[in-house]
Amino acid sequence: AKGLGSGSIRLFNPEMQQTVSRRLHLETALRRAIEEQALELYMQPQVTHDGKVTGGELLLRWHDEEFGTVAPNEFIPVAESSGLIVPLGNWVIERACEVLQQWSQDPNLSQLRLAINISPRQFRQASFVDYIEASIARYQVPEGKLELELTENMLIDNLTMTIQRMSRLGGAGVRFSLDDFGTGYASLAYLKSLPIYQLKIDQSFVRDVLTDVNDAVIVETIVSLGESLGLEVIAEGVETAAQAESLVELGCTKFQGYYFGRPQPIDYWREQLSSSSGH
Ligand code: C2E
Ligand code: CA
Ligand code: CA
Ligand code: CA
Repeated sequence: AKGLGSGSIRLFNPEMQQTVSRRLHLETALRRAIEEQALELYMQPQVTHDGKVTGGELLLRWHDEEFGTVAPNEFIPVAESSGLIVPLGNWVIERACEVLQQWSQDPNLSQLRLAINISPRQFRQASFVDYIEASIARYQVPEGKLELELTENMLIDNLTMTIQRMSRLGGAGVRFSLDDFGTGYASLAYLKSLPIYQLKIDQSFVRDVLTDVNDAVIVETIVSLGESLGLEVIAEGVETAAQAESLVELGCTKFQGYYFGRPQPIDYWREQLSSSSGH
């Protein structure tokens, strides 16, 4: 604060310096982890009101020797800003297709869909559509089984490009889900002009659905919007039976959240699901 007289200007305070330095170190560690395929994909089930699993969302997990467990909310932004999201995202796409191919051989698993998260920078890559098409072809992924979760703001970034990419991918059998729905800036007009399959009610509306009437009204509105436009609607972040009951009363038919199942290694859910039916 008294640096003005000392002839040097401090642009960063020590705290900022630490943050910047952690980010740089994280980036180096993340680059290495991607090269060594040291990240893991977990799956969280998505279920209907009667408990039937329709598929799951794949979520990245990273445990680093130096940094310990790093949350996606910390390393995904690092991957985005450094460009590492492209090789990382490609790895996720390929893994998802590989799992879908394996599951298509098992009658207990062959109906399940897998959803992956797509970052804005990934979606803007010129090679994005080619990469997905090639992976689908390579692993012979059945139609309608690979789902991409996009966010509202990604859609409006460049509408012409978005429409082109979404229709090409739709033609390859990909489905689209709008993540964190209700928190972004897309106008409702986009919902009918884009090939969207599902809306994911953001967990911020689910959290207080029992106590905050505004949240309940928002949930109800999204559900009826989905019905009118012929879109599936899923509520995410459902943690308790009471939330689930309240969501059912508001018209929800699909759910995801700790109450129905936590993110676990894909093989955990493969074992659970391949032995749970038919008995
Ligand atoms: P998201 O796509 O909104 O994913 C849902 C997040 O909510 C996940 O956090 C999940 O573990 C968590 N969650 C699930 N059920 C519950 C619940 O009942 N209560 C609460 N409080 N949370 C619940 P996670 O795994 O830490 O991921 C955070 C974010 O990181 C994701 O948010 C997504 O935006 C991003 N992310 C994760 N994996 C990937 C990936 O492979 N690619 C990209 N681009 N982003 C990813
Ligand atoms: Ca998601
Ligand atoms: Ca979400
Ligand atoms: Ca609220």
